[in-house]
Amino acid sequence: EGRRLAELAHAPTRTRDDAPIRLFANAELAGDVAQARAHGADGIGLYRTEFLFLQRHHLPDEDEQFQAYRDLVLGMGGLPVTIRTLDLGADKADTTGLALTSEPNPALGMRGVRLSMKRPALFATQMRAILRASAYGPIRILVPMVTNSLEIRAARSLIQICARDLRTEGHEVADHFELGAMIEVPAAAIALPSLIRHVDFVAIGTNDLVQYTLAADRNNDALSELYDPLHPAVLQLLASIIRCGEKHAKPVSLCGEMASDARYTALLIALGLTDFSMHTGALLEVRDAVGRCDRGRLRRLAPRLLKAEDREQLTLLLARAAARA
Ligand code: PEP
Ligand code: MG
Repeated sequence: EGRRLAELAHAPTRTRDDAPIRLFANAELAGDVAQARAHGADGIGLYRTEFLFLQRHHLPDEDEQFQAYRDLVLGMGGLPVTIRTLDLGADKADTTGLALTSEPNPALGMRGVRLSMKRPALFATQMRAILRASAYGPIRILVPMVTNSLEIRAARSLIQICARDLRTEGHEVADHFELGAMIEVPAAAIALPSLIRHVDFVAIGTNDLVQYTLAADRNNDALSELYDPLHPAVLQLLASIIRCGEKHAKPVSLCGEMASDARYTALLIALGLTDFSMHTGALLEVRDAVGRCDRGRLRRLAPRLLKAEDREQLTLLLARAAARA
């Protein structure tokens, strides 16, 4: 089995009926880049920059961040790299030097882009580092925890200001930037038709989208039964995000854990997903699962999948589709 999967490392990712699917890697650590390339990832779909900030005694300055982002881009050898701006707060808060205030309800508090808006100097330092790295290869900028268009517009104007300053200082900066929003708050998912014109792409964060849709803490084991990516409400949201992206010709990827789980590959393809981003250890298994899917058949099954009442019904429908394929 291991050998059979290893042979998929550089095979194209295609369904049985030959539809192309793109598999990107999630990255946090330096080693993830080598692994992403070894397993034939189409690029980095999510680089979680908060790992440069966590468990440290001081904040990384512009140069340190620039070097990390530049190495990442160079390591990917021309493949697209999606760098997410700081998503500190809530479950990612153990950092010193930020003086984060303690909050009664951190998951609903000052996290992600909200913190970046409140600490513009911190955000600008990171943006400058990312923009400087953009001279070395294709970078897309992704903003976490977006709930409204103001946050996206603020990020875009900050990019423009930082790019102009950097050019004035003599730095080389790419001419054009793709800016995207994480869709991980139900409000952003529901209001996407009005938000989408402000972004170049969207990335669905199911880890948080499931948590906020079902009001179930993603890290609370006592709620693991409730925390269900297959809940009909979650599937409705996923389907509508993907449909909205298609309608407006903006790429949609999914970079939560759900994309890494080969048990969900057929379901996500049925909902219309074409771009998956996952931890590098899952790339081969998911590529294998994609190869067993019949996209045309799965797409036709989507309306029934969305009406399924529970996990059992859903699993049964998918199993029947797989048996017929
Ligand atoms: C998510 O919420 O699904 C996501 C990819 O971001 P994180 O897990 O870093 O919150
Ligand atoms: Mg998230």
